Amino acid sequence: MNYRYSFMRFPEGRLKAVTFSYDDGVRQDERLIEIFDKYGVKGTFNINSGIMGSAENRGRWAPDELKEKVIDRGHEVATHGAFHRAPGKQRTIDVIRDTLDCRLGLEKMTGCIIRGMAYPDSGITGYTVGSANYEKIRECLRDLGIAYARTLLGDNDRFEVPRDFYAWTPSAHHNNPKIFEYVDKFNSIKEKAYGLAGNMPRLFYIWGHSYEFDMNNNWDRIESICEKLGGKSDVWYATNIEICDYVKAYESLIYSADGQRVYNPTLFKVWFTADDVIYSVEPGQTVEIG
Ligand SMILES: [Zn+2]
Repeated sequence: MNYRYSFMRFPEGRLKAVTFSYDDGVRQDERLIEIFDKYGVKGTFNINSGIMGSAENRGRWAPDELKEKVIDRGHEVATHGAFHRAPGKQRTIDVIRDTLDCRLGLEKMTGCIIRGMAYPDSGITGYTVGSANYEKIRECLRDLGIAYARTLLGDNDRFEVPRDFYAWTPSAHHNNPKIFEYVDKFNSIKEKAYGLAGNMPRLFYIWGHSYEFDMNNNWDRIESICEKLGGKSDVWYATNIEICDYVKAYESLIYSADGQRVYNPTLFKVWFTADDVIYSVEPGQTVEIG
């Protein structure tokens, strides 16, 4: 092996990715999607299958709107508990039912395969006596076909790609007072030369509820965030599940013992660096490094 470090790069060799996650399936999502589309960013919308709107009740998405107004516009629909029950405050069997019911419900409404999740009403912390615990819940979610689950309350500007997709911690809620400092810091991150150990890919993940923009009268805040983060050639704009699937494809690459030959057994084209050089490997193909 004659290179020191190899790091994942996002599609087209990009160093950075941006994603958004908005909860509870409220009507204000529609306005948020208009803003996302205007700036070319992608979001995941976490829906409670048991608390939907209808033609009469327009406060939340109606079941027949999700496919056309969210998924067909390039965004993701993900589970958020059929009845929005905090996993840390109930028995494992109830978590299983709330998650499975939500997945079944959303798949019936959309005709799609729904694999994402945001933990309802809490993250992975706050488990109480007699309730499920995180390790058990993680195993259950895997068995339920959930590919990732978003937690909360760990705001930071490290922009890390998660190691544990069932404890996926966003960079920040949109109301974080430092959000624009985070945005500036993220935008200033560039590819470093000389194969440095710190040259890993970066991910900026913002979450919230779109009704908060009405509540706080601050739609201009998300508009400004999207404007500042959008339209960058070194950023991949993707939904949560797209990022999760891509990272898993990268982690599936198979290397020769000397690290010089890389085989891609997945259906995704995958990019990575070896020192300062960016390589890509097509599905089913092998590349030689150096
Ligand atoms: Zn919620």
